[in-house]
Order: sequence, then structure tokens, then C-alpha cells
Amino acid sequence: MVDFTLTDEQKNLRDLAHDFAVNEIRPKAWEYDKDGTWPIDVLEKAFEVGLMNTHAPEEYGGAGLSHLDGAIIEEELSWGCSGITTSLGANGLASAPIAIAGSEEVKKEYFTSLTESLKFASFCLTEPGAGSDVSSMRTKAVKRGDEYVINGSKCFITNGTYADWYTVYAKTDMDAGHRGISAFLVPRDETVTIDKKEDKMGQRASNTATVTFNDTVIPAKYLLGQENKGFKVAMQTLDYTRPGVAAMATGIGRAAFEFACDYSKERVQFGVPIAMHQAIQFMLADMATKVHASRLMTYNAAVLLDQGKRNTLESSHAKRFASDSAMEIATDAVQVYGGYGFIKEYPVEKLMRDAKIMQLYEGTSQIQRLVIARETLLPRRAEEPAKATA
Ligand SMILES: Cc1cc2nc3c(=O)[nH]c(=O)nc-3n(C[C@H](O)[C@H](O)[C@H](O)COP(=O)(O)OP(=O)(O)OC[C@H]3O[C@@H](n4cnc5c(N)ncnc54)[C@H](O)[C@@H]3O)c2cc1C
Repeated sequence: MVDFTLTDEQKNLRDLAHDFAVNEIRPKAWEYDKDGTWPIDVLEKAFEVGLMNTHAPEEYGGAGLSHLDGAIIEEELSWGCSGITTSLGANGLASAPIAIAGSEEVKKEYFTSLTESLKFASFCLTEPGAGSDVSSMRTKAVKRGDEYVINGSKCFITNGTYADWYTVYAKTDMDAGHRGISAFLVPRDETVTIDKKEDKMGQRASNTATVTFNDTVIPAKYLLGQENKGFKVAMQTLDYTRPGVAAMATGIGRAAFEFACDYSKERVQFGVPIAMHQAIQFMLADMATKVHASRLMTYNAAVLLDQGKRNTLESSHAKRFASDSAMEIATDAVQVYGGYGFIKEYPVEKLMRDAKIMQLYEGTSQIQRLVIARETLLPRRAEEPAKATA
């Protein structure tokens, strides 16, 4: 049976997240976008009201919410500001490898630390020479007794400057391509340096940094899963988290659509509100359809995860469609505003800049198409591992 009705608990979560977006995020979003300031005051409040680490299991003090619950929350928060939501949600991305492959001891230590007080974690996969092609990474982890020594640089790391913990992918066999990658949990210490903070086009309230590990020593228990099996952990992580990006894209698209609708009813040209012109109505109609379809695809990808099923295909469908749709909707919203849409005083130009990153991080739209084509042309059995692209 297919039923898209939200439960009362889910409606309450949606309302909580929406109220937070209205009262705490939107009033500051454009200011933080302008200055590129990290929104620590908003993050502190989100932690207090339980809108951070919603994925953390109940046994470690978390809310243990489902993937669908998470997607519902992420759409609302991103409707407020996707840059702030990226800062809020990065712990979820960093935690997924631990939930997937961490030992019981590591899960307890890590999740408890996240739920006890406000802490940040980052997911470190990308390198200057290894973006979509994860297998070409050069960061290295060498086993020394019951420790690993990590050396290498990761770029574009969300919350990198502020993280207390990092989940890091490194080569344990330099010659084995994606079969030589392992995943690690790395607590921050003085050997971890932040080399660069990026000045970005959009999502300027999120922190994006280059993080370097300089002879960073970690106990061997922080190996996540088995040696040389980290690539599978990374791909499973992205299956887990791409519905969240799709939800964020849905939130951006919805915000742009709502601004465009309101403006079209107020702006008068040729003696009538521009909403009376069919060309505008058709743009708004297409925006509404794209928001609706993005949400349904997102829910579908999230529910499969909640049912314990592999969602690689559906996750890529949702991420690809919702991201491209957010970009199209935000661009059309600027069109509905005419010249005013291009001016920073009006809200939609920020949404157009923010939407762009949706098509880039956690696998570009081209990479999603590669995954979709592969899964469609060569369908795999549920237990087969993911293929080598991020
Ligand atoms: C703001 C921001 C935040 C980020 N946060 C994180 C983070 O927290 N952690 C992290 O690890 N990474 C993060 N990233 C990195 C992000 O995931 C990568 O930028 C992304 O995967 C693309 O890699 P790349 O930039 O090296 O592009 P490239 O891989 O160099 O791609 C360049 C272009 O070529 C295309 N392309 C590449 N290969 C193929 C192919 N086989 N077929 C067709 N087209 C192809 C791509 O689609 C793209 O259009 C972040 C990036 C940004 C900008």
C-alpha cells in the first residue's frame, strides 16, 4: 500500500522545523549570506530545540528519527536557508559512516559526544585531485602497531574549520584504486590544520575548508569497518544522505516558488498583476509540479532506507531531479521578478546562488545520471557493492 499521509508526530516535526525556519533562520539568513559568517547562534538554538543530530540513536541520547523524518525537517529548514541547514546537517553526513561501519564502542563514544553538548563533525572524502573520481585520492593511512598514521589534504570540507571529529577516507593500499580505500574516525588534535576557508558563490553561511592531516595518529579501533573496504562505506553513506540533499533542494525550490507567486500577484504591468499573464502562470505551474515531484521522490528514497532496503537508484533519482529542479525553479523565480530579481535587495537571487551547489556536492548531477544509467542498464542485486563514483 502506498500512503503519503504524514503521521501526527511527523506533522509536529514539520511544524517545529518550519517555526524554527520562520523565527530563527529567515530573519538572519540574508545577513549571514552577505557576510559569509558562520551562524553559530542559530546552530546553538537548533541544538537546544532538538533539530541537530536528529539521526543519533536513542541509546546514545539522540532522537533516533527515521530518514523520512529527517527529510521532512531538512525541507523546512532549507526553505529558511540551505546554507544554515548545511551547517546544521553536516553532522549527519559525517555520522553516517559510523552508523554504517563503526563498532559498538566507537558508536557509543562518538554519538554520545554529539548528543551531550554542541559538537561538530565533518565528512572528508574530496581532495584537490579526487572529486567525482574518489579512487584517485592520495591521503594515506599507515598502520603502526595498534595505531594508524594519517597524512593528506581534504578540500571543500563542510564545517571543516569547526569540527571536533572527522570521518576520513584514506588509502591503506596506494596501488589498489578504490579497493585500497579505508574509512576512519579522526578526533581533532593539533596535527590537524585548516589551510583555507572558501569564499563561495552561495550557501555562504556554511563553512567550507581545506583540512590537512599531518602525521595524525589515531587508535586502530577508529578504523570504520574493514581495511580497504572504505569505498563501499562511502557509497553507502551517499545512498543514506542524498535523500537529505534532495529534501534541501525541495526546500529551496519551494521558497523560490512561494516568493515568485507572491510577487506575481503584487507586480502590475499592462494594467493587471503579472500573475494574470499566462506566460507567468505556466512558469509558476511548472515550478509547483517540480516541487511536488521532488518531494515525492525524496520521500520514496528515504522510506526505502527506513525499510532497510538499498536505495541507490531512488536516491540518485531524487538527488538529480530535486537539485536540477531547484536550479530551474530559482532561475525562473528571478525571471518572474524581472530586473528586480537580479538585485540583492530582493530574496530570489540568493536562492539562485544557493540552488547551484545542490547540483554539485554529494555527487554532481552528471554523476547521478551515471549512477542512474548504470543501475538501469545493469541492475544489481541488493547485496552487490556500489560502483566507483562519488
Ligand atoms: C560548498 C561545498 C561543500 C562541499 N562539502 C563537502 C564535504 O563536506 N565533504 C567532502 O568530502 N566533499 C565536499 N564537497 C566536494 C563535492 O562533493 C565535490 O566538489 C563534488 O563531488 C565534485 O567534485 P569536483 O569538484 O572535484 O569536480 P570534478 O569531479 O572535477 O568534476 C568537474 C565536472 O566534470 C564532471 N564529471 C566528472 N567526472 C565525470 C564523468 N565520469 N562523467 C561525466 N561528467 C563527469 C562533473 O559532473 C563536473 O561537472 C563540497 C563541495 C562544495 C563546493
